[in-house]
Amino acid sequence: MKIGMLARNPELYSHKRLVEAAEARGHQLDIINTLRCYMNIASRRPEIYYNGDKLEGYDAIIPRIGASITFYGMAVLRQFEMMGVYPVNESVAIGRSRDKLRSMQLLARDGIGLPVTTFAHDPKQTEEVLQLAGGAPLVIKLLEGTQGLGVVLADTDRSAKSVIEAFRATKTNILVQEFIKEAGGTDIRALVVGGKVVAAMQRTGAEGEFRSNLHRGGSAKIIKLSPEERSTAVRAAKSMGLNVCGVDMLRANHGAVVMEVNSSPGLEGVEKASGIDIAGKIIEFIEKNAKPGATKTKGK
Ligand code: ADP
Ligand code: GLU
Repeated sequence: MKIGMLARNPELYSHKRLVEAAEARGHQLDIINTLRCYMNIASRRPEIYYNGDKLEGYDAIIPRIGASITFYGMAVLRQFEMMGVYPVNESVAIGRSRDKLRSMQLLARDGIGLPVTTFAHDPKQTEEVLQLAGGAPLVIKLLEGTQGLGVVLADTDRSAKSVIEAFRATKTNILVQEFIKEAGGTDIRALVVGGKVVAAMQRTGAEGEFRSNLHRGGSAKIIKLSPEERSTAVRAAKSMGLNVCGVDMLRANHGAVVMEVNSSPGLEGVEKASGIDIAGKIIEFIEKNAKPGATKTKGK
């Protein structure tokens, strides 16, 4: 097969591993720098150009679109979809997962457990939003945050109120969430490929840190999920329409709650901790599923 991978940095561990896994199985994998693609949006003849050449003959595309270029990346992927090329994750599904509010709404619609989460645009409603979320301690999150930056724990209603007001003053969107204390600074990342959990790890924050992000000094270890947790992860992936994703969950007293579904999960932590060839599983998924015109939405 001829596979394209929309990515910017060929040196990233995950990208190198996907190239390796594809070549080990006899496929060609070209890294396509998303931002260097340009498109011809002609009626019924969608085309993509790259360095002066028309991109043709691809059986599948692996989108590894960074959060900062979501808008352009989705347009490039959509163009491939309209050309009939199979996307490992569809542009529409990536769009859902990149919008925290939209994804929580879709997960809630499908009955998936979530932390109690509230949101309002108008600063006048700060008090009500605090009360709706159950009062302090509360977690306040920037809608556009990544790697744990822009996630604040407020211990009292008073500090929650000032954090909300400070964020509001900068005109950023935030959501206010129940603090799952019993998670103990630990979260779970389940890697889902083709509707199955292929590996799961537990991430624990540095001493005194409630955020378990590896970028914030957290550490990872492989764990076995309960059947309920596995089913939550698979349902969350399905709800987003993502074939390959990382589902982040917290262990709450009443079961696993989903925090976020990531459409370009990093492979390094989880492959190194588990010894599982996840890149290989992604390539095998493509072998089984990549057929021309098999996109569900074709970007719609
Ligand atoms: P980001 O997308 O920036 O990583 P997250 O929403 O995943 O932000 O939050 C970062 C970390 O903070 C999580 O991995 C988790 O450990 C902790 N966390 C986030 N939300 C909650 C919550 N409601 N209750 C307890 N801990 C939380
Ligand atoms: N309206 C839902 C969304 O925001 C579903 C759309 C669809 O499944 O195409 O993604």
